[in-house]
Amino acid sequence: MSSSTSSTQSSASGWVSYLLSTTSEHAVIFLNDAGVIVGWFGAAERLFGYTETEALGLDFGVLFGSDDRQLGLDRQEMAVAKDGQRSEDDRWHVRKDGSRFWGSGLLESVKQPDGTVSVFCKVVRDRTDIRAQLDTLQNRLSAQRNENERRTRIFVSLGHELRNLLGPLQNATMLMSEVDDPKLREKSLGVLRRQLSAMETLLNDLSLVSAAEVSVPRVKTEPVVVQEALELAVNSMRGTAKANRQELILTVPPVAFTVDADPLRLQQMLLNLLSNSLKYTPAGGHINVSATVESGHAVFRVTDDGIGISSDCLPHIFELFTRGDIPSTAPGLGVGLAVVKELVTMHGGSVEARSPGAGKGSVFALRLPLRHTGGSQV
Ligand code: ADP
Repeated sequence: MSSSTSSTQSSASGWVSYLLSTTSEHAVIFLNDAGVIVGWFGAAERLFGYTETEALGLDFGVLFGSDDRQLGLDRQEMAVAKDGQRSEDDRWHVRKDGSRFWGSGLLESVKQPDGTVSVFCKVVRDRTDIRAQLDTLQNRLSAQRNENERRTRIFVSLGHELRNLLGPLQNATMLMSEVDDPKLREKSLGVLRRQLSAMETLLNDLSLVSAAEVSVPRVKTEPVVVQEALELAVNSMRGTAKANRQELILTVPPVAFTVDADPLRLQQMLLNLLSNSLKYTPAGGHINVSATVESGHAVFRVTDDGIGISSDCLPHIFELFTRGDIPSTAPGLGVGLAVVKELVTMHGGSVEARSPGAGKGSVFALRLPLRHTGGSQV
């Protein structure tokens, strides 16, 4: 060996030992063939918390979390490195005091000429900072995903509500074009105006949600007379009931009572329940609609003798996208009742469904707290 080569080598090995002793970023750890720590250099003490004296002789597995150790990942790293490849790994490592850090590292085997491993060398760098950034990004991503899902639900329900308004609109238009009666014409015009203004509100909601200004429909409450709200909803469905050859009966107490509600949202809830009863009751069936006062609440009831709901389905009937025991080709998305539940909850009320079983009809009851007037209501 020439003197210049040997001086280059000795200065190179000097640099290596200088680097091993001074690097504050990288832990450099040597292991024997059995996985016992035989060299502890660089930032090893700073990263793992063991002094050199403490670390030498320990099994390399102590640097891994107990879960990883149980999975045998420490030995797997060695097996991969022994096979001639370097084993690269990003994982949680455990310090002497039990705390964890995210280490990015690699393990390489140094082999003798006969192929046996003389030593393993592991280099680890603390990348907890990167892991924290990754976690933040993942959290952001999952928050974004949730927001998208929530918005999709709102879009679907708004689309469903818009579609619900079409029935009364079509009926009113048909009446106006077919019946030459000024009174009926005036009544139909009233339906058209109301449904158009309901559409306007829903379309405003839609554009607000698209612009991310709000994520849930707003509720603007005012005193609403229960009898009037019910009459409005029932009258707008009379045309459909007639076309379906169903009997639609409205029963309300003579004394007016009032709830605090958003008139449009209340109509939405009633129309959803009513249109379901019309949809799920065959020709010749009956739909009874009533309002009563029970324990400080106004109770709207929609009762039909239609296809009913099985006991399996009943507990889930208000969940989004839930459809009962009906052919999957039947129109509908399973949105309407979820919307009713959301809206009634926003009003401080509740909704429940009952059915003696499939083929035996259903009853839906919507409860809203009575308006406090200081005096007493019915
Ligand atoms: P959609 O009617 O669009 O499927 P809904 O959320 O309004 O969605 O209703 C969910 C399910 O509840 C329906 O698919 C139907 O099976 C059942 N359902 C709702 N109302 C009635 C009713 N009056 N009679 C029988 N089943 C009903």
